[in-house]
Amino acid sequence: MEQESINQLRAQFRGDLIEPADARYEEARKVYNGMISRKPRLIAKCADVADVITAVRFGQQHGVRVSIRGGGHNAGGLGVCDDGLVIDLSPIKYIRVDPAAKTVRVGGGCTWGDVDHATHAFGLAVPSGIISTTGVGGLTLGGGMGHLTRQYGLTIDSLLSADVVLADGTFVVASAEENSDLFWAIRGGGGNFGVVTSFLFRAHPVATVCAGPMLWNLDQVADIMKWYRDFITRAPEELNGFFAFLTVPPAPPFPEALHFKKMCGLVWCYNGTMDKANEILGPLRKAFPPAFEFFVPMPFPMLQGMFDGLYTPGLQWYWKADFVKELSDDAIALHIKHGSELPTLHSTMHLYPVNGAAHKTKSGDTPWSYRDSTWSEVIVGVDPDPANRDRITAWAKNYWEALHPYCAGGAYVNFMMDGEGEDRIRATYKNSYGKLSQIKAKYDPDNFFRVNQNIRPATSVAAD
Ligand SMILES: Cc1cc2nc3c(=O)[nH]c(=O)nc-3n(C[C@H](O)[C@H](O)[C@H](O)COP(=O)(O)OP(=O)(O)OC[C@H]3O[C@@H](n4cnc5c(N)ncnc54)[C@H](O)[C@@H]3O)c2cc1C
Repeated sequence: MEQESINQLRAQFRGDLIEPADARYEEARKVYNGMISRKPRLIAKCADVADVITAVRFGQQHGVRVSIRGGGHNAGGLGVCDDGLVIDLSPIKYIRVDPAAKTVRVGGGCTWGDVDHATHAFGLAVPSGIISTTGVGGLTLGGGMGHLTRQYGLTIDSLLSADVVLADGTFVVASAEENSDLFWAIRGGGGNFGVVTSFLFRAHPVATVCAGPMLWNLDQVADIMKWYRDFITRAPEELNGFFAFLTVPPAPPFPEALHFKKMCGLVWCYNGTMDKANEILGPLRKAFPPAFEFFVPMPFPMLQGMFDGLYTPGLQWYWKADFVKELSDDAIALHIKHGSELPTLHSTMHLYPVNGAAHKTKSGDTPWSYRDSTWSEVIVGVDPDPANRDRITAWAKNYWEALHPYCAGGAYVNFMMDGEGEDRIRATYKNSYGKLSQIKAKYDPDNFFRVNQNIRPATSVAAD
């Protein structure tokens, strides 16, 4: 990338082009995970699809490494790259809800908070995750699981079509009717196939939900995990609940007596009335009264933003993940051992349900290959202080190594760090890897888009 060619690019580009000497560079290269510090040669903040096409063609012409940045939340920081070109979609923010059709058109740079804000006005929501600052792009293309998974499936199950700029700079629509192979691949295959500049989702009736955490002391973990394992696969689909080991944050609504206490919890989201929710959760409260609960009616966007204040951008994050089919008593014993040793206030382990409506789509219908699992497990060592990096990493690795033999094989791509290796990616896509690899060869034969959980093209390979 010569300076002169960057200068020429400026003449065609409507958004901002940020180089290392620019005062905005330090801020622009940061991603959500403070453990990642990469220094791109150029950050192209695209104003529109034309800018994306220009940036892709520029990257091809100059043979540079390219990363695609949506919300910048990726675990391994795959939205940025060293020495290359970042195609930053964050300025492409627009949302149009069609209340009659119950669909929503979302610009490629939106976060889920943007989407929830827009859809909530119409009593609608798209299934996404559990934090509002996460990007729509990365979460959707990796699958997307969260508070509405059990009722409405993964985020990709609500994706109707996408606008995609391919590796050669051409623009296509991917849907069930157009380029259906590409549409199949992007529903779980991540950013391997092109830059998605716009998503069209089906939206679902969700307005006020009954939601929030219930917490128990650690001496009750075994009881709670065993109760939860039996309950969650049989629970009504309008109810989602994930399990967590956590340290109680020193802030409202938690009582001071519990601040900084290590506990276990279930975080619920019930899309229905409080009376019905209480009826469903009554037996749990009776058998194991929570030490604390904050389970109240709230607007759905409030639930989506509930953890934003705790998990602010810039913390150090080390992620390890797996899919889980069964939670045996032996696995529970290991969870108790490692989960009780949370190394810092922000560190946690979550078991997100992959059941209910998520099981209605078959594994082969999308490349998301663990439809037959019951949970997606994620162990995250998290802390604001870079000095604790090794401590949180060692805890997460040890915990994961202990539990991995009890897991289903692969892991959710969006919960993996960079460089976990091709075997992990193949294990994650199982039988779908071959088809993904063929589709990659058709749409990106030179592996131009390779700063991701990379699927290698079937016929040729460009290595880093
Ligand atoms: C605090 C936190 C909470 C999370 N909670 C959940 C959760 O509840 N559920 C869940 O499913 N996931 C969750 N995740 C994981 C999240 O899905 C991934 O981190 C995801 O990659 C974030 O997307 P992004 O657009 O913000 O990422 P970015 O870092 O911007 O991008 C990541 C990668 O995605 C691809 N990409 C992004 N946008 C596009 C696009 N428009 N076109 C093509 N490729 C693109 C690129 O390959 C890029 O390298 C969470 C992450 C964090 C940090």
